[in-house]
Order: sequence, then structure tokens, then C-alpha cells
Amino acid sequence: MSDCLFCKIVKGDIPSNKVYEDELCLAFYDIDPQAPTHFLVIPKTHIGSVSEVNEENAAVVAHIFTVIAKVTKELGVDSYRVVSNIGEQAGQSVFHLHFHVLGGRDMTWPPG
Ligand code: 5GP
Ligand code: ZN
Repeated sequence: MSDCLFCKIVKGDIPSNKVYEDELCLAFYDIDPQAPTHFLVIPKTHIGSVSEVNEENAAVVAHIFTVIAKVTKELGVDSYRVVSNIGEQAGQSVFHLHFHVLGGRDMTWPPG
């Protein structure tokens, strides 16, 4: 999508601090980190949020979770939280599917 911030990051039109990249997905550090480790993992194809995941595009979501498992191990982060906000009320501000990976500090539950 031409007006999507994360599609622009995928294309390289907007720079990002990359953690990992392959043909299906991209991981990069969040510009406004909420934990000592805070990166985002996104599919390279535009999916608006978890609410748009279906049988046709779900494989990339499974792949993203293998990437999260691999990258966190490489970074030495063994306890972390994976979050995806869906919709404005839940705090979604960029409407391209992304998984926050947060680690390196104590977390509270329930989340705010
Ligand atoms: P959401 O609020 O949709 O769950 O998460 C969007 C995330 O994208 C936020 O944590 C925000 O800090 C991050 N973000 C917004 N714009 C940029 C950007 O230009 N570069 C990077 N690296 N992160 C961004
Ligand atoms: Zn997009």
C-alpha cells in the first residue's frame, strides 16, 4: 500500500534499524522503545492487522513466529512478550500487521 508507513520501510523508502530480513518478513527496532529490547516483526506483504489473517495469508504469521524464536535467541533474550494491537482501542497506530517483541525488563499483568 503506497501510503502505509511499514510498506515504505519494507521498500526502503523510510530507513529502519534492521534486526533480521528474509523474503517474507522484516524485523526492525521500534523507534520509540518501551523496553530495553523492543523490535517489530512485519510481513513484507501488506496485511492490515491480525483481523485480516486468513487461510490464504496465515503461513507468513507462522513464519514470523519462527523468526521471533530465532532472533530472540540470537540476541540472548530468553524472556519476552509478543504483542499485536488490533484496532485503535487496543492501541494500534500503524495499520500494517506487526508483532512487538519486548524484553529485558519485568513486565506487569494484566497489560494496561
Ligand atoms: P502500534 O501502536 O500500531 O501497536 O505499533 C506501532 C509501532 O511502530 C509503535 O511502537 C511505534 O513506536 C512504531 N513506529 C512508528 N513509526 C515508526 C518508524 O518510522 N520507525 C520505526 N522503527 N518504528 C515506528
Ligand atoms: Zn503496509
